Amino acid sequence: MIQVKRQKFVIGNWKMHTNAAEARKLAKAIAVGVGREDRVCVAVCPPFPYLALVTENLKGSKVSLGAQNLYPEEEGAFTGEVSPTMLLDLGCRFVILGHSERRHILGESDAFINRKVHVALAAGLDVILCVGETLEQREANQTSAVLESQIILGLAALSASLLPRLSIAYEPVWAIGNSGHQATPQQAEEEHIVIRESLARMFGKEAQSVVIQYGGSVKPENASALLSQPNVDGALIGGASLHADQFLAIIQVAIEQTQREEKST
Ligand code: PEP
Repeated sequence: MIQVKRQKFVIGNWKMHTNAAEARKLAKAIAVGVGREDRVCVAVCPPFPYLALVTENLKGSKVSLGAQNLYPEEEGAFTGEVSPTMLLDLGCRFVILGHSERRHILGESDAFINRKVHVALAAGLDVILCVGETLEQREANQTSAVLESQIILGLAALSASLLPRLSIAYEPVWAIGNSGHQATPQQAEEEHIVIRESLARMFGKEAQSVVIQYGGSVKPENASALLSQPNVDGALIGGASLHADQFLAIIQVAIEQTQREEKST
């Protein structure tokens, strides 16, 4: 099969962390650290209240802005929610949808996530759809079925023409945050293949071009082993993205892996 080149994508999910001063400092440090580097796609997703401030501090840099969520309506009586147009207004290019914390803490269903995917893409935001199994599901040998179902339901009725604006983040719930667990590079690769095969059944050969990131305790120490897997096309990073030095070190690993792949083709 022909090897499809996929640009590595490293994205930081700041979750409900930072205050204004910390967000400004972190954004500045990442913008400076990335400099003019554009071989790897880099984005940060601060909390909603700091999007405007982070936009300001990323201006002129190669780092893109993303949001951690949206509400799938243009406007209206939806107290506390944020529309896709508002995110675009603030300079967002990306939105993370279906994060496990929204699925499991806030009870979001696949159908609701699917609505968000459609509305986000129609509005002009690029989507990172998160999928991943819980520990219980893994131990019951349900991982593949869970991933396939989250892909099928989350991307239902999506046109293949929109795939270039979509990436998938495989985030095993048991490996996120301070769980003390990490997926091995082999486990990550296996599940990325499951995801790519599900995409291929839905969309055909276009599935080869979809970037699939791994998320779950990615650190500078394990980034190289993960990113050297053929189907691990980037990383979605929580904890380590709150430290500019760690986040930049992971970006550097992605650049080096890109260089290695360029040399070998
Ligand atoms: C996440 O929340 O998406 C995540 C991957 O977090 P961490 O890197 O801290 O495991």
